[in-house]
Amino acid sequence: MSGFDFDLFVIGGGSGGVRAARVAAGETGAKVGLAEEDRYGGTCVIRGCVPKKLMVFASSYPGAVEEAQSYGWSASIGEFSWDAFHGKMAAELDRLEGIYRKLLAGSDVESFDTRAKVVDPHTVEFSDGTRKTAKHILLAMGGRPVVPDVPGKELAITSNEIFHLPKLPEKLLIIGGGYIASEFAGVFNGLGTKVTQMYRGDQILRGFDQEARDLIASEMVRKGVDLRLGVNVASMAKAEGGVEVTDTEGNVEIFDHVMYATGRAPNTANMGLEEVGVELGRKGEVIVDSYSQTKVPSIYAIGDATDRVNLTPVAIREGMAFVSTVFRGEPMEVDHDLIPSAVFTQPEFGTVGLSEEEARAQEEIEVYATSFRPMQSSFAGLDDKVLMKLIVSKSNRKVLGCHIVAPGAGEMIQLAGIAVKMGATKEDFDRTVAVHPVMAEELVTLRFPRKDA
Ligand code: NDP
Repeated sequence: MSGFDFDLFVIGGGSGGVRAARVAAGETGAKVGLAEEDRYGGTCVIRGCVPKKLMVFASSYPGAVEEAQSYGWSASIGEFSWDAFHGKMAAELDRLEGIYRKLLAGSDVESFDTRAKVVDPHTVEFSDGTRKTAKHILLAMGGRPVVPDVPGKELAITSNEIFHLPKLPEKLLIIGGGYIASEFAGVFNGLGTKVTQMYRGDQILRGFDQEARDLIASEMVRKGVDLRLGVNVASMAKAEGGVEVTDTEGNVEIFDHVMYATGRAPNTANMGLEEVGVELGRKGEVIVDSYSQTKVPSIYAIGDATDRVNLTPVAIREGMAFVSTVFRGEPMEVDHDLIPSAVFTQPEFGTVGLSEEEARAQEEIEVYATSFRPMQSSFAGLDDKVLMKLIVSKSNRKVLGCHIVAPGAGEMIQLAGIAVKMGATKEDFDRTVAVHPVMAEELVTLRFPRKDA
């Protein structure tokens, strides 16, 4: 080591930072320090993907029991205990945080439970004034929810607070049409809360395939979500038993809570970054090159702090690529193309590649799609509909996009994503024998393109 306290100092103990720290220390022998001001595991483990998915599971049982009745079971669901569920979820998050801490310790990463900021290209400073020097600094501070300036905004909660409500709300208003708003609308609707989702645009999940968005929205409405499009909150005021909301159409209504899910911003304020020459973008994101290196050669940044593709597995990959580039001497760019992802709406959405609209703007395409009632719900007499859709290039026959709205769509798209990433053509899909009887077999049996495509 060359006169520094550490070879690498990581700021932020979320998925990306922890992975980079423990791989650099455990697999390349680097001396690594890491500072985390809050809980280890970051957004995904503590206040994101993990507790959200547990809530998705919890919210699915009333529907499952209803379906069970159609299959001959004399089942009934009973009461949901928020306290019992919440207590168990909190214990599970404690367990996972413990694992993160153990992983760091087991790789000989020295962790510091403190906020840290950058004071020069090779020095970080903790809140108590302690300074540590490092040959490289990795910024992995993640992001946080943002609430727009609206009168009464201090009354709003965000996804940070939603996991810790003292009791299950009876009436909840969710603002936004993105991943978080749409997922929580489904979760609380399933748990029995009366949910209103308010979105300023004309359809939720902007940027995704239009047909998939339309199906998800109509299914959410059918399952009970009061989806209000083309409207926003004008103001909020404290009211007896909750928050009084006036919308942009002048309607006034009281809700137990108002949750804003109107986007997230990188945690880069007051970090000393611009002072040392690290460039920040309009949203405060750290500007990096394809190796995650900032304008200051010794400082790199990964994950939501860079606002590239804000997903946990992407942050982890960026962390791994950083270690390869800097500590193994094998430069590795992060490939942000064709990233499969899932939105845990109800119904679930799995997607990879271009939407029909994006693909059509780029080249001539064929669209292969089918929407149907799956066997399980059809038998139960339920109206649930699923969608399987492939977007195919007319010129080279490659599958440019695959969109699945169905129970288990997240699991399906992980596998379809491999084929799409490999550059599979429609004919490659067709050569694959169907697995029967499953919903996903439709992906390999779509024979004719849509006439209007
Ligand atoms: P998104 O950026 O996905 O959505 C923000 C929503 O808020 C949009 O509908 C946007 O509307 C709306 N909005 C923005 N500003 C305002 C405003 N001033 N008034 C009213 N509405 C507003 O953010 P999320 O917070 O939902 O999620 C953040 C990120 O977290 C996602 O981009 C995703 O990367 C990640 N995430 C991933 C998940 C997954 O993989 N399953 C789950 C949860 C989060 P408009 O469309 O009109 O701009």
